[in-house]
Amino acid sequence: MPYSRESAGKGGHSDFVRNPDVQHFLESCDYMKPPSDDEAKAMASSFISAPIGQPPRLPKFVVASDASKSDTPVNDKLPSTQLGFIKVSHVLISMDKYAELIDPRSRFVDPFKVADMHRNAQPITYVMPGSNICYKGASNVRDGFRQAVYDQLTANRRDGSNRMVLTETLFALNDNRIIIESCPSHTCDASIKDLIFTPHNPMQHCKACGTTVYATDALRLHEGISDFGDNMSAMTRMMNAVEHLLLASFILELLQANPATLNKIAFVMDGPLALFGEPAKWQPRIMKLIHKANVKLKQLGLEPLLIMGLQKTGAVMDHAHLLERFLPNGVLKVIDDTYRHTYITGSDKASEDFGYESYYGQDFLFKTERGRIFNFALPYPFESKGGFGGRKGFSQVKVKLDKYGSLIERACDLIRHFELDLYDNAIVPVALAHRHASISLVPGGKVLDLIAKAGLGKK
Ligand SMILES: [Zn+2]
Repeated sequence: MPYSRESAGKGGHSDFVRNPDVQHFLESCDYMKPPSDDEAKAMASSFISAPIGQPPRLPKFVVASDASKSDTPVNDKLPSTQLGFIKVSHVLISMDKYAELIDPRSRFVDPFKVADMHRNAQPITYVMPGSNICYKGASNVRDGFRQAVYDQLTANRRDGSNRMVLTETLFALNDNRIIIESCPSHTCDASIKDLIFTPHNPMQHCKACGTTVYATDALRLHEGISDFGDNMSAMTRMMNAVEHLLLASFILELLQANPATLNKIAFVMDGPLALFGEPAKWQPRIMKLIHKANVKLKQLGLEPLLIMGLQKTGAVMDHAHLLERFLPNGVLKVIDDTYRHTYITGSDKASEDFGYESYYGQDFLFKTERGRIFNFALPYPFESKGGFGGRKGFSQVKVKLDKYGSLIERACDLIRHFELDLYDNAIVPVALAHRHASISLVPGGKVLDLIAKAGLGKK
């Protein structure tokens, strides 16, 4: 996920906006505008004081993830024939050892010590056919893409007998049974609901056209692929899906092996807790899994699992920067849908439930006691979005702070702990994960092995 987006500072930008035609066009648009002082004060008054743990309740370990994607020409003479790469890095930070990274004089992360950590670097990488490449002799680009998704997600990303296979994660999220509505071959589209995909039967053939159908087609990533277009948006969707499925695979494994472990780890994702586009239908399964983990933790007398999405850019952060100077330090706001549509999306019509299709987490704005502003998200604390009286009902229940138990306070405590030590102007775990989306701190898939080795699992 790109996290330091360049501002629109290219020459000519303001000339365009001054153009009378463009001005006229803008008059017929709704968009976020800087609030007047009175409006800003009204908005600021809806913030509450941010909860703070006495003492702060911090996890023992933080796992931060970041994903990036890139394209590379297969050779210099064929610049438009490209391979696509998706890289996801995970950084495991032991809170005990974290202090060693920090230069005590400046409180900045010591770059030499960080460089030391690069040595074992290796992210989890997924290689995909990019532009103008047909994979494994497929009759069209889209079928080749589907097969590549299957091959890449079915490859084991850990060493030895340990497994981290996202196809298995998909099955586990779906009670080991996947059904696909219609044949993914664009020339066919026959109903294939009678084919039941299981871990032992992840590949089947469409009875109408004979095309091989893969369990991973249920992610629908191939739907964005055409023979002549580029596959940029499919790759972006895949990157987003893979990052969140990897989170799910961590949770699934720890839940099975030693659920108490989950209480000692905080997961920090770069970006919103959401699955966008075609794979969005998997979002309810991730929500359900997190709920299941929390039920288990409760049975063990433990606090719920802390998963936090941090967003450095986007509409909520743009809004936060407009509002920042009106906010006292140490305040918090849950972004309810009324507030979002009134002040952030700038639309007249409220959505019945913002993010209904894609989001499994709720946005908060937090201005720390030291005056820095953060947009974080926490998973919705429910098994599903159903049962609350439709979308409107869910829109109301998702912003009830007491439903989040200790999570808001613990999220704020974690941000406070790391904001002291700036590194690339981001909180440390996210910055490290971002830096190592190209060079990971630990070999691909090793985070779980390290957690086990650290004795974290032992009660
Ligand atoms: Zn077919």
